[in-house]
Amino acid sequence: MEALRESVDLAEFTTMHCHAVASNVVDVRSVEELVEALAWAGERSLHVRVLGGGSNVVPTSDVNGLVIVMRIQERSPCVDGDVVHVRLGAGEVWHDVVEWTVSQGWGGMENMALIPGTVGAAPMQNIGAYGVEQASIFEELECYDRQERRIVKLNAEECRFGYRESIFKHEYCERMIITSVAYRLSTSPKINASYRDVSQELTAMGVAEPTIADVMNAVVSVRRRKLPDPAEIGNSGSFFKNPVVEAATAERIRADHPDAPAYPQADGRVKLAAAWLIDQCGWKGARSGDAGVHDRQALVLVNHGTASGSDILALASAIQQSVHQRFGIMLEREVNVW
Ligand code: FAD
Ligand code: NAP
Repeated sequence: MEALRESVDLAEFTTMHCHAVASNVVDVRSVEELVEALAWAGERSLHVRVLGGGSNVVPTSDVNGLVIVMRIQERSPCVDGDVVHVRLGAGEVWHDVVEWTVSQGWGGMENMALIPGTVGAAPMQNIGAYGVEQASIFEELECYDRQERRIVKLNAEECRFGYRESIFKHEYCERMIITSVAYRLSTSPKINASYRDVSQELTAMGVAEPTIADVMNAVVSVRRRKLPDPAEIGNSGSFFKNPVVEAATAERIRADHPDAPAYPQADGRVKLAAAWLIDQCGWKGARSGDAGVHDRQALVLVNHGTASGSDILALASAIQQSVHQRFGIMLEREVNVW
């Protein structure tokens, strides 16, 4: 294979920037190249991993195998009345696609502006931000089934999307490689500016009746102001999921802490803010060597320089234990640990 590289440091391929060497790395730009790479690894009995933008992966050891970097590019829109069906290659950069769809006047993605990474990874954890998740615009995806050695199509139900969840984190982990995703957008979209940060930003911008471009610009401003930029400090975004707990658990915590953020869910359970729980345990800004907790975002673990994936994971475990001890809630990791 032409594009094959040997002994590659994954620090430059992941936003946490932890050192770990992959014995082989290859970029794939088509389904044919993907099949070729898988065959090459199969002939050598090599373990295979897939990487998009590396913004949700922390390697804790060297990868003795082949890392496939997904680069398939495609943007195929089909306008049907006020509905726009758009098929996207798995290697497309998510935010570039958001900007492109908004520039065309197609709504649906604007609240998810500036989420790092690729289209192919978006269904993996059903990415979401500011009240919208990709499941709300999802139509279907195509993936290569490594077991059956063929491309299969999956609809939303088959993907089993949940809160930062999908089947790709479970049964289909490592079996399915997503090659394209189709979304349903709209030329007469419903604006969702209900999140406090977004509505406040729009007010500050002097916008009373926002367009999708206004919402995107507001989200971009808020994110640039509030979230640590991986180009400046290594991080993988939120390290833990917000816990969704029984109503009684939330009531118990709010009896002691009336200020604890709590968001009722449609199924009667309540979403708590993991950042608040971590902050209450005194972790904000904490540091263990070069592994740390961001000083403004307690949900974001950071690499101050030379932290290894294991250093980050050890800090994450200490945080999980202390939150569990104090609140009886075990935080679940959102980041994929390799
Ligand atoms: P990677 O990190 O490369 O991969 C993530 C996982 O998906 C890995 O297990 C990988 O093997 C698998 N994978 C990747 N591509 C494929 C494929 N084609 N087929 C099958 N499996 C694949 N997430 C949110 O939901 N909302 C946010 O607002 C958000 N904000 C963030 C902010 C920052 C600063 C950072 C660093 C991260 C943030 N994230 C957020 C997390 C991250 O951006 C998303 O999870 C994103 O979808 C990861 O995309 P990626 O291409 O970088 O995936
Ligand atoms: P925030 O506005 O400070 O809010 C803290 C948490 O409370 C968020 O995680 C959010 O849950 C929840 N929340 C706030 N307002 C809500 C509402 N009206 N209804 C329901 N839940 C509400 O959050 P932030 O840290 O600045 O992040 C802003 C957005 O970007 C969030 O949607 C967050 O998910 C997303 N983000 C995600 C990552 C990641 O890596 N996954 C990283 C950075 C930012 P939700 O997370 O469920 O929205």
